[in-house]
Amino acid sequence: MSRIEFDGDRCEGHGLCEQTAPEVYRLDDDAELELLVDEVPPELHAKAEAGARVCPVAALRVVSESEGAQ
Ligand code: SF4
Repeated sequence: MSRIEFDGDRCEGHGLCEQTAPEVYRLDDDAELELLVDEVPPELHAKAEAGARVCPVAALRVVSESEGAQ
């Protein structure tokens, strides 16, 4: 299982992540990013990573739980 690290200070609300992976990322009416999943299920992992890759300000990172430990 993996999870998403989101740096809200960097996010500029471009919405490319949402366009790429609307199952995972959603911009609310104030252009604030909302993560639709706490933990990324295996079937959404590739999409979550694709959405993180297109972010122009690198505000998103998908990390596997084992990496993040310690
Ligand atoms: S693509 Fe990056 S800057 Fe744009 S809304 Fe998503 S996290 Fe924010």
